[in-house]
Amino acid sequence: MVHFVGAGCGAADLITVRGAKLISEADVVIYAGSLVNPELLSYTHDNCEIHNSAEMTLEDVLSVIQQAERDGKTTVRLHTGDSSIYGAVREQFDALDAMGISYDVCPGVSSFCGAAAALKAEFTLPDVSQTVIITRESGKTPVPDRESIRSLASHQSTMILFLSTALGEKLQNNLLEGGYPESTPAAVVYKASWPDEKVYHCTVGTLHQTIVNNHLTKTALIIVGNCLGNNYERSMLYHPGFSTEFREASK
Ligand code: SAH
Repeated sequence: MVHFVGAGCGAADLITVRGAKLISEADVVIYAGSLVNPELLSYTHDNCEIHNSAEMTLEDVLSVIQQAERDGKTTVRLHTGDSSIYGAVREQFDALDAMGISYDVCPGVSSFCGAAAALKAEFTLPDVSQTVIITRESGKTPVPDRESIRSLASHQSTMILFLSTALGEKLQNNLLEGGYPESTPAAVVYKASWPDEKVYHCTVGTLHQTIVNNHLTKTALIIVGNCLGNNYERSMLYHPGFSTEFREASK
């Protein structure tokens, strides 16, 4: 059996209770060493075999899993944040399906949630934006043309950019050309929930300079949108004039 586990975005105690239990019971752990907090490995038992997938290919990972299966062992594949976001899990799922190996998935706290906490932000503010776009600037990994930053920017929704700090200049130009005014609030969150977490507030017009000035080359998210500003309407859900299934509106 293989358990794909979301490690959370940094702080070791942000893993789920279920994820921590799965690690403590695992005979083999394959963890994404570039971003997973190594403190999580202290939850493993003494005989657990540990592999760092940063040094492995997909084929290496699969062969470790296959060997574990032959030995009747349980494997945890530990991914950073939540494995559904840029996790390269689908190719693993398909290979395991082809090999007849069972697996399940335990969710984790993605770094975009960690960044919201660091910013004390609500990404879906009434009357400001009810949409969160999770995307990346195209670099070595291409992004389909129909999802270009320029076209997505036309919505002026909340936008979260993964894997894009090294492409700051291109990103800023595309955000501006796509429709965000220069003064739109933006932020860069470096290592959300890690002890050395840092938050930089800026605007779309000063985004690239902020990245360069603070040497934010990796493990950072860029958040763009008026949800980071100060104008919004209060929610209907908690409004005295609004009835819900649980509460009558006051007259
Ligand atoms: N599955 C992960 C994302 C993996 S892609 C998740 O759900 O968060 C790796 C990218 O995620 C990094 O380049 C960076 O953009 C972002 N990232 C991961 N951890 C982060 C953190 N603690 N703070 C800010 N960004 C982070």
